[in-house]
Amino acid sequence: MAHVLIIGGGPAGCSAALTLRLRGAEVTILRAGASALEKAKRVDNYPGLPETAGGEMQRRFSEQAEKAGARIQNGLARLIQKTRRGFTVLAGEEMIKADAVLLATGVGRVARIAGEDALVGMGVSYCATCDGMLYKGRPVAAVCRDASFREDVDFLKSICPVDYYMEKPHEAPDGVNVIAGKPLSVRAEGERVILTAESGEKAYDCVFILRPAVALTTLLPKLEMNGEAVKVDEKMRTSVEGVFAAGDITGAPYQVARAVGQGNTAALSIAQYLNEKGETK
Ligand SMILES: Cc1cc2nc3c(=O)[nH]c(=O)nc-3n(C[C@H](O)[C@H](O)[C@H](O)COP(=O)(O)OP(=O)(O)OC[C@H]3O[C@@H](n4cnc5c(N)ncnc54)[C@H](O)[C@@H]3O)c2cc1C
Repeated sequence: MAHVLIIGGGPAGCSAALTLRLRGAEVTILRAGASALEKAKRVDNYPGLPETAGGEMQRRFSEQAEKAGARIQNGLARLIQKTRRGFTVLAGEEMIKADAVLLATGVGRVARIAGEDALVGMGVSYCATCDGMLYKGRPVAAVCRDASFREDVDFLKSICPVDYYMEKPHEAPDGVNVIAGKPLSVRAEGERVILTAESGEKAYDCVFILRPAVALTTLLPKLEMNGEAVKVDEKMRTSVEGVFAAGDITGAPYQVARAVGQGNTAALSIAQYLNEKGETK
């Protein structure tokens, strides 16, 4: 049975999951945290569920998708790679294989530090547990947005001397050398990466950037964008064959009904795509 990985467990992802299950696909929904809908105190413009709190509506969407047989897994997708047969998606420390991928990650904008994109894989890493051992005993920096990467930082400091930088103020883990001032930019200098912060600059063998969100151009570098939104056609196909997108990720208006409709359209297109590839049951 073909496996579809849906990245994002909001209205778009849950809607797509329902239709894909009915079309006989195996479905995993990967979600990194709450959906935008859960922040809505009350939604009045979704048919059939009047005056419903966003949290309650999301609970029902997720429950229905699970009852239909979709597997819901917590985790942040960090990187999508195309393989000969389909895709592998790095989620935490796990590699998930899929025949098709639906991006339903909502609007989330991820602020980055200057120079970061160009150095990914060349002295900048988003995964301490994946790449940490490559830098065993060598000086590294951990750049953290919040305290949620404590385990990753603990792992790093067990093998390397770690300087700790904060993108936003929070409590630093024990045993790291906290560098004052926000990190501003990274640049390569020979084999090393120079990290410039408000307080000055320092060279490292690797800069680990650990954030609870991933920019779309980092997740899938070849994805064509329309400003902040992912470019899709009327079938919700993106510029990368086998990767579809639905919901707020495709741009305004940001509405539950639109996200649900696009999720449904994307699911039908994915089913057709898998059929043409001969991947359905
Ligand atoms: C305060 C507020 C009030 C609102 N009120 C209304 C209203 O009254 N009516 C209305 O129609 N709309 C309303 N909206 C908009 C509505 O909530 C959105 O349009 C809708 O939730 C979009 O659904 P989505 O599935 O596209 O994205 P989201 O609901 O944002 O879901 C995105 C999902 O992707 C996950 N994710 C993101 N990145 C990753 C990653 N790298 N790996 C794994 N998972 C990831 C997130 O954790 C989340 O589960 C409101 C929004 C807000 C914030």
